[in-house]
Amino acid sequence: MAMIEKIYETTGPEETLQIGKQIGESAAAGEVYALIGDLGVGKTVFTKGFAEGLGIDEPVNSPTFTILQIYEEGRIPLYHFDVYRIEEPEEMEEIGFDEYIEGDGVCLIEWAGRIEELLPEDVIVVFIEKDLDKGLDYRRITVRRLR
Ligand code: ADP
Ligand code: MG
Repeated sequence: MAMIEKIYETTGPEETLQIGKQIGESAAAGEVYALIGDLGVGKTVFTKGFAEGLGIDEPVNSPTFTILQIYEEGRIPLYHFDVYRIEEPEEMEEIGFDEYIEGDGVCLIEWAGRIEELLPEDVIVVFIEKDLDKGLDYRRITVRRLR
């Protein structure tokens, strides 16, 4: 299976939100999006746009303290994980991660690098990076998926 990669460059949060929205609009049930990038890089901004693209109107925030936030009012359910505080993969089993990734919705996981061994083979990886030479608000968003 071939890998396809798309690179987007943004110069502010609104643009990153729009990229997330565009990707959310075409997201399908069963897909798992792994968001990878440092603190403050824009993972949650991307997620807000993604949720908007799914037709979710309620406010989306980082669920750092709850690990999982479920939004069911969109076109398909959104399972929004933030696994920053996960220390053992077993903790993910406890919250039922397996059922969510095989479920009827789309999973989006902030800090997915921390649970790399649990990600499915066909995961869609979204890397968000800064490049300070290009300014404080510049972000490069690389989306990698199998086709
Ligand atoms: P993370 O979830 O990765 O920790 P957040 O999405 O919560 O990060 O925060 C990103 C911060 O960076 C926000 O304060 C946002 O306004 C700011 N920002 C500046 N430029 C951008 C950009 N191009 N894309 C996304 N966020 C940006
Ligand atoms: Mg976040």
